[in-house]
Amino acid sequence: MTAIKMDGRAVAKQLNEQLAQQSMTLMQQGVIPGLAVIVVGDDPASAIYVRNKERKASKLHFNSVVKRLSADATQEEVLALVQHYNVDPEIHAILVQSPLPKHLDEETVMMAIDPKKDVDGLHPENLGQLYAQVGDHYPIACTPKGIMTLLNAYKISLSGKHVVMIGRSRLVGKPLLALLNNANATVTLAHRHTENLKALTQTADIIVVAVGQINLVTRDMVKPGAVVIDVGMNRDDSGHLTGDVAAGVDQVAGYLTPVPGGVGPMTIATLMQQTIQLAAWQTGQAVN
Ligand code: NAD
Repeated sequence: MTAIKMDGRAVAKQLNEQLAQQSMTLMQQGVIPGLAVIVVGDDPASAIYVRNKERKASKLHFNSVVKRLSADATQEEVLALVQHYNVDPEIHAILVQSPLPKHLDEETVMMAIDPKKDVDGLHPENLGQLYAQVGDHYPIACTPKGIMTLLNAYKISLSGKHVVMIGRSRLVGKPLLALLNNANATVTLAHRHTENLKALTQTADIIVVAVGQINLVTRDMVKPGAVVIDVGMNRDDSGHLTGDVAAGVDQVAGYLTPVPGGVGPMTIATLMQQTIQLAAWQTGQAVN
């Protein structure tokens, strides 16, 4: 069997078409969605992601600002910039590109972002609402939200299904655990201290892996027909982008996301979706 490829590029393209409409609707009401991306230092991987984000935002005619600070920027400089965008009415969404240089405290920077403009949903106030299932006007981390859109596009049912989520970061694993749980899946959250990972994944209807380790999920770990979502983005020895899933898994799985072309494009499209949503909420407009 060869797994069905979950084509994130195609689903993201459809989403982008809807977003172009929504963006136009907002503009007719005098609102231009504003996205500020703060980049500190010159991490080469970040440079590629930021360029992709910039490109998509300008295609949708956003007010897109990328502010680059040097690698030796101080915590105060970064916080001052966050504060500047917090009070700028033309900016509705703020993203601080991770990773920050080691001398900066990511937690403090993240906490400084106005929760209403926290486009990646990392602020505890936003993550807390997601877990508590209270309110409906809060941002959700873009990668997990994009994965939910992708699962939905392929009509993968979640209710009652066993999902093994490998990786528990605040960016991916934790919010996805809440989203899946809210969709009535039974979720096992695995991480670096998990024992007998293989025994767990072998019982999973859906495996999501977000670790950052080449070949972490091998074909013997996958139940025939399972859905496998590969979030990992790694460079192999020859510099090619590769995920956390080993070759051969496609011979066992029912569905599989490719890397590149699976989760990555969904993350960027979802970032644009959420920027539009934040702009609409902050200005009291409707986009649908
Ligand atoms: P992170 O380093 O913050 O978290 C990694 C997680 O993996 C941790 O929870 C850790 O406990 C777990 N882990 C480590 N080794 C493990 C092991 N041997 N077995 C089980 N769990 C283990 O990373 P992150 O920010 O969540 O990113 C994870 C990966 O996903 C990276 O490759 C990153 O580049 C990628 N990523 C991709 C996208 C995308 O849009 N495609 C978005 C975000 C992150």
